[in-house]
Amino acid sequence: MTSRPANLWFEQVVADGDPLVPRPALDGDTEVDVAVVGAGYTGLWTAYHLLRGDPSLRVLVVERQVAGFGASGRNGGWCSALFPASPAKLERRHGPAAAAAMGAAMRDTVDEVGKAVAEEGIGCDWVKGGTVTLARTPAQLRRARASAGYLDGAAASALVGAARVLGGWFTPDCARVQPARLVRGLARAVERRGGRIVEGTTASSVGPRRVVTDRGVVAARTVVRATEAWAAHLAPRSVVPVYSLIVATRPLPGSFWDGAGLGGGQTFTDERHLIVYGQRTADDRLVFGGRGAPYHWGSRIAPAFDGDDRVFAGLRSAACDLFPALAADDFTHAWGGPLGIPRDWYAGVGLGADGLGWAGGYVGDGVGTSHLAGRTLAALILGRDDPVTRLPWVGHRSRRWEPEPLRWLLVNAGLRLMTLADHEERLTRRESVLASTLSRALGG
Ligand SMILES: Cc1cc2nc3c(=O)[nH]c(=O)nc-3n(C[C@H](O)[C@H](O)[C@H](O)COP(=O)(O)OP(=O)(O)OC[C@H]3O[C@@H](n4cnc5c(N)ncnc54)[C@H](O)[C@@H]3O)c2cc1C
Repeated sequence: MTSRPANLWFEQVVADGDPLVPRPALDGDTEVDVAVVGAGYTGLWTAYHLLRGDPSLRVLVVERQVAGFGASGRNGGWCSALFPASPAKLERRHGPAAAAAMGAAMRDTVDEVGKAVAEEGIGCDWVKGGTVTLARTPAQLRRARASAGYLDGAAASALVGAARVLGGWFTPDCARVQPARLVRGLARAVERRGGRIVEGTTASSVGPRRVVTDRGVVAARTVVRATEAWAAHLAPRSVVPVYSLIVATRPLPGSFWDGAGLGGGQTFTDERHLIVYGQRTADDRLVFGGRGAPYHWGSRIAPAFDGDDRVFAGLRSAACDLFPALAADDFTHAWGGPLGIPRDWYAGVGLGADGLGWAGGYVGDGVGTSHLAGRTLAALILGRDDPVTRLPWVGHRSRRWEPEPLRWLLVNAGLRLMTLADHEERLTRRESVLASTLSRALGG
């Protein structure tokens, strides 16, 4: 096994000639119109849309590490129309029209990201090839049959040549990207439009009109918190940081891809409960990720948690189960990172009357959703009448997570239940009772 804990995406960015050296830090107290904390997609799309809307604005983005250090530089590269709260849940809470508007906005967002990528000349291997969701057990097949875009076994296998495929479903609303190239290119686009990004600068307090950092205090009419998993520390109990982990192979030969397919830039997954996600990269590697890493007591986030040998081994084995032609020494990279999960599994974006804005809680669906968040925040801050400001997630605030030790017990029990639900379905061949119980507990 030649696996080493390294992020393929960052390695490729460095090979592109972007050495990931931090930009200068904040150099003392300053005053701007809008201060954004966090230089991932959320913070950068907010800055980008603000500057497009009003190029005269003084926009400052404050980042502790380097742009893209967080989930934005580490993810599975699905720019999808997925929103963490299901359409059924949105409909129950807000009615059918609002739920439909949210779905349409998410689908449009995939194309909006594609448009911005083209306009700004961001080379990030963007291909809108859709997503194939495979069904490989009878219970999974029943779920696939109930989905729009159902594919029988032959049609699903023609797109993804995985083993034991019984069927699946296809949606066109997803693009494959190299996520770190996207976030690094976006940071440069923000700078070209006049935004300032300071790196190596840690915010210790993010409040209305004021951001306190280790390099000075920023006074601003509007402050935006765009720190996703790290919001667990700046706004305690607003989200829990949960780790998603990824493995990747060397570039695989044509003989492998002749069987495995994915020739149209499709992303893929299957109907299992413990989420997995994959893509074929522009240089013909297989990138395959999933959840399953434990939640860490006190919502801790630490570099040591970016890897977990047990989960990496499980991912390699799941990838080999899908594609038996893979060999153990095909895997060359393994890494991970934290994402933010709100208590009700429902992302939110908003701007308070006090001038404090926020966005996040995307669970694992932030690549597309963060663009919608940035566009929405910009419209709210600029006071522009954009229909996106009337979408149901605007102003949504999730209730807070429980204090420890209950939080640790709940999150880890939930993660464990998802794994057990997949075993249950394999054994019983019926829909998992555990999974539906958990889904009801989270409000569907
Ligand atoms: C392994 C993995 C796979 C994923 N796969 C997908 C996928 O395929 N599709 C999808 O849609 N979503 C995916 N996600 C989720 C997606 O990547 C995130 O939702 C999205 O990147 C969030 O962007 P963000 O800008 O809100 O947060 P982040 O990218 O996490 O950025 C937050 C930034 O804030 C900075 N920061 C934190 N605290 C401070 C502070 N005190 N002061 C200054 N700066 C601070 C951090 O350094 C970081 O750069 C995945 C996530 C992970 C971890």
